[in-house]
This record gives sequence, structure tokens and C-alpha cells, in this order.
Amino acid sequence: MSGALISSRNLAHILLPRCHKCLSSLLISKRQLNLQEYQSKSLMREFKLNVQPFHVADSLKEAERVCKIFPCDEYVVKAMILAGGRGKGTFLENGFKGGVKLTTDKNEVLSLAEKMIGNHLVTHQTTSTGVKVKKVMIAESYRIVKEAYFAIVMDRDFGGPVLVGSKEGGVDIEEVAASNPDAIFKIPVDVTLGITPQQALEAANQLGLDTPQQVEEAADQIQKLFHLFSVVDATQVEINPFGLTDKGRVVMFDAKINFDDNAEFRQKEVFSLDDKSLTDEKEVAAQEAKLNYISMDGNIACVVNGAGLAMATMDIIKLHGGEPANFLDVGGSVTQQQVLEAFKIMAMDEKVKTVFVNIFAGIVDSVVVAEGLIESAHSLGLKMPLVVRLVGRNAEEAMHILNNSDLNIISALELDDAAMKAVEAANSS
Ligand code: GDP
Ligand code: MG
Repeated sequence: MSGALISSRNLAHILLPRCHKCLSSLLISKRQLNLQEYQSKSLMREFKLNVQPFHVADSLKEAERVCKIFPCDEYVVKAMILAGGRGKGTFLENGFKGGVKLTTDKNEVLSLAEKMIGNHLVTHQTTSTGVKVKKVMIAESYRIVKEAYFAIVMDRDFGGPVLVGSKEGGVDIEEVAASNPDAIFKIPVDVTLGITPQQALEAANQLGLDTPQQVEEAADQIQKLFHLFSVVDATQVEINPFGLTDKGRVVMFDAKINFDDNAEFRQKEVFSLDDKSLTDEKEVAAQEAKLNYISMDGNIACVVNGAGLAMATMDIIKLHGGEPANFLDVGGSVTQQQVLEAFKIMAMDEKVKTVFVNIFAGIVDSVVVAEGLIESAHSLGLKMPLVVRLVGRNAEEAMHILNNSDLNIISALELDDAAMKAVEAANSS
């Protein structure tokens, strides 16, 4: 289910294995708001957290302007995408390595911006086609002497926020989590009391800092970060690296914040920051149509009602050697309009070779779904094979309508059989 992680620079799920259980609820519920690094850092600045001065550019011209007004001894140029592992990423179009680059030369800043903007960055957290970089952050670079990891995560089992950290932070944190889990500490915080100065100090003490003064500064930053976490209704803030500079300062070099969607009504300002232009256009369209959709790597598009059935459908496609192009739950009471919207999203995906429709008609009438399928396929001029499994209310009549239509329908009664047919159709088209 790597799809759930595609747009989430979420390492805390590794550090807190329990969060794996939340993966399904992540998929089922609305996507959590996830801000770009530059937006998270603007917010952090307001809460007096130590972040580097920075500007954002979405074109070469803008990068030129930034260089003129923003003199630095050394710059760090960072690709703004909602995925981690950028430092070790590669650009799809030009093979350029690294979505986080340092330079002392202004001209180099421009050439880095040119290599990044408009191209797709592939990292271990994206699909193989990567994510298009539309903006870069141009920040003042600091020398880092130590990279620690620090996060605050709302955790189900602890029933509240947990401070998670390690002195072994940086780009290989996943490896640390896998090979040396003892290097990671966890301190649960009573949500009704908030963080205590002792807890902040206990965490800061374990970040591998050198002097009592640095530990004190880190503890102060941790308390401020916790304040931000509470005030903005975050579900997770993740700082990696939580770095120590050569000047002995504690600085938050990279930041990822997730917000609780249920708090949208009281976090209007934060939610207004949602920069949809930087999200996968298919995912934006799905959000607008109130469909739960996550883009994936494969070539079999799935249109399913119910998250459980959607996940089972993806599993069974994989079991038969196929690759799903997406997770899509059109909801229990699927309407014709939703079927149309789902098909429009499928049509945006050039990788798709076949569509697998797997609908269990409980509330909805299968005939309505069948009519929706025919109308949608006609209006979009869909030519590819449609593997359809309709079960439940009026399913027989619906299949009869579909089989007598002019669409390229491959019908199936059993899930196994349907999945095999979908894999076969994708492989032969
Ligand atoms: P990520 O790869 O997506 O997690 O992006 P990060 O912002 O964490 O950057 C990756 C790595 O680049 C960090 O772990 C640092 O080692 C390095 N880095 C990031 N910003 C700076 C900076 O301002 N100065 C220096 N010297 N290194 C930096
Ligand atoms: Mg990072």
C-alpha cells in the first residue's frame, strides 16, 4: 500500500509501528492536509521556531529576483514536493541527482532551479514517475555538524501526542528505525496537561547535542513546537534533520506537518494554505468529486465501492500478477455522477490499460451503476476493455444491459476470476 505514502513525507509511521494500523483509516478517510515545506516553515516562524531565512521561486525569473535581494554566503536549493527523500532523489527528465543542493554561487542557484522546476522528482516515497516540481525553496544554508530526528505524533495507542526522536537523524532515518530501533526514544505526553519542561528536557537530552546550552535551546524549541502542534490541530510534526550548526545553534532544517481534517472548521487560515496546484491533478479532481482516490504505479484502474473492497481488489490484482493504477473508493451509495467523475480521473492517467469495475450493490441499484458506466464510457470515448463485476441488487439485469451495450465489456461473477481477466486484459492491450 505504498500509495498512502506517496504524498506523505511520513517517517513517523516507521518509528511508531502502531501507525501502520492507521494506514487503512488514512485511506478510508479524507486525505489529511499536508503542507509544503515552505508553508510549514512560515508557520513555524510565527511560533518562533528556528528555521533558516528563505524565499520561494516558481520560475527562473523569480529565482533571479530572489538571488538579487537575498545575498547569502551559501544557499540551499530545495525542490518543493510533498514527498520525502528529496536529497537522494533523481529527476526523471534530466537524470539530475538530488532535490536538495548546496551552492555558494548565485549562478549555480539559477542552474539548479532550472534543473528542478518543471521536472519530476523521483524519490523512495514517490511513484516511479515522480512528482512534478513547481516551486523551489532558496534558503540560506547553514553548516550542520549533527543531524538528529524529532517528531511529535498523535498516537492512537498512547491516546495522545508522543515525542519521538533520535540522535541519529538525517536522510537514513528509515534505516536506523529498521536496524536499530533502540536508537529511537518515545515520550508520551498527557494531552490534557500538555508538555512539561521536564519532558522537553528529557527529549532534548537524547538528541546527541554537545553542551548544556544547546540542550536548553533544543528543549525550548521542543516546547514551542509542541505549542504549534496543539494550536494548529496537527496530527504530526516531523523535523528531520533537527540539526546542530557549526555555530552551536539548534535549527529545524526540514519540516513536515500534517493537520487533522476534522479541525478544518476552526483552522481556516491553515487550510486556506492548501496549495492544490502542487498536488497530483487526479487527486485534486477526486477530492472535489468526494471520491477517495490515491494514484499508484500500475496499469489497471480500479473503480470500487467501499474501502475494504477497494483494498481487497488491489490485493487480488497483485496476487494475479497485475499492478493497480490507483486506489479508488466511490462510496457505498455510488451515483451516476460519481461513476462519471471516477472515469474522468481514470482517463487522465496515461498508464491505464484497462478499467476494473468491482461494485457491490447494496444501497445502490446495479442498473443505475451500469447505466452510469455506459454513459460515462460514451461521453469520454473510452475504448479500453472494461472488466466488470457487479454483485447485489439487480446485478443480473445490469450485466445484461452492459453485455448488450457497444462497450468492450468483459464480465465476471467471482472476484478471483474478475481479477485474472483484468490482469489478462491489461497485459494484452
Ligand atoms: P529530504 O531529503 O527530503 O528529507 O530533505 P532535507 O531538507 O531533509 O535535506 C536532505 C539533507 O540535505 C539533510 O539531511 C541535510 O544533510 C542536507 N541539508 C538540508 N538543508 C541543509 C543546509 O541548509 N545546509 C547543509 N549543509 N545541509 C543541508
Ligand atoms: Mg528531511
